[in-house]
Amino acid sequence: MDELKNSADRAVQRVEELFSSEAIERFRLILSDEDYAAALQSFSQPKPVVFRVNTLRSTVAEVLEEIESAGVVVSSIPWCPLGYKLEVGTIRDLQALRCGKDGLIYIQAASSMTAAHAMQLEEGMSVLDMCAAPGSKTSQLAAAMNNTGIMVANDRSKKRLYRLREILQWQNATNVEILCGAGEKLGKTHADCFDRVLVDVPCSGEGRFRIEKPIRFERWNVQAIRRLAKLQEQLLIAALRCVKVGGRVVYSTCTFAPEENECVLDRVLSRSSIHANVLPIPKELLPTSSRSSLSHWGGKTFANNLEGAIRIVPNETTTGFFVAVLEREH
Ligand code: SAM
Repeated sequence: MDELKNSADRAVQRVEELFSSEAIERFRLILSDEDYAAALQSFSQPKPVVFRVNTLRSTVAEVLEEIESAGVVVSSIPWCPLGYKLEVGTIRDLQALRCGKDGLIYIQAASSMTAAHAMQLEEGMSVLDMCAAPGSKTSQLAAAMNNTGIMVANDRSKKRLYRLREILQWQNATNVEILCGAGEKLGKTHADCFDRVLVDVPCSGEGRFRIEKPIRFERWNVQAIRRLAKLQEQLLIAALRCVKVGGRVVYSTCTFAPEENECVLDRVLSRSSIHANVLPIPKELLPTSSRSSLSHWGGKTFANNLEGAIRIVPNETTTGFFVAVLEREH
């Protein structure tokens, strides 16, 4: 028991040595003591290997049969529909199987799948994925809609859209139209067009730091966080313009920084031209490491009720994530 605690403490200490004191101070303010230790430990623990079954190419039974007969052991993730975690075997074992090669499964962090689950899609809907590349969530959304309805996948990066095209083909997602441009401009060209919009914004990625990639720790700085927050705000405003009245926008990041999460929501919801509410996410779609959003940051209490927005603390199954569902009122 003591040995375990000592090794956990050492893992936390190793990560603390990589971060600046400013980052550590912020993390201690954002996370409870327990979550701080879990998050920092997760940066040096083996990354969880999680995949989802791609129902556009196969069924759960078919995929599990192939995996089990190859001696690979997986367990279902109760809060993550179609999500499975690798228990015995390696990512290469999975990739070498027919289901791994032919797109019957897709390897994706469980917390990242939560954003798509929070969309609560129905067949025939019109959906915009505003920052879509490389297409992990676009292909997941296409599967949730069983290739019905219409999905527009936009990204500013032409290069990353090449990868998105490959992934959509590999996953057999056929209901997707691709756009290449700045998402913040879509509010004018595609106003009131969609039942659902996903805005999975570019972010500082604090929830996905890895000790074997120290460059990410070195590059971390608050100025970059503030710069990103300005773009994120523009993207969320555009998303709320693109969605129809009564429709929903899902906003997500893989970072802890409140400037990129609650502060963006609070500023956007406080604008007189925007009428939207944060909705709760059904509990059964959330891991036990989900926490309610912060109610204040930087000495300011948020003006809006953001309680339904969720922070996911990284652990042995998930990576760090933030997700909020907003419903447009009028
Ligand atoms: N949703 C993607 C997925 O699940 O595979 C990941 C999206 S990644 C977090 C953020 C994406 O935003 C990047 O592909 C980046 O090129 C794109 N991006 C950055 N600035 C953008 C902008 N102004 N408008 C649209 N996309 C942008």
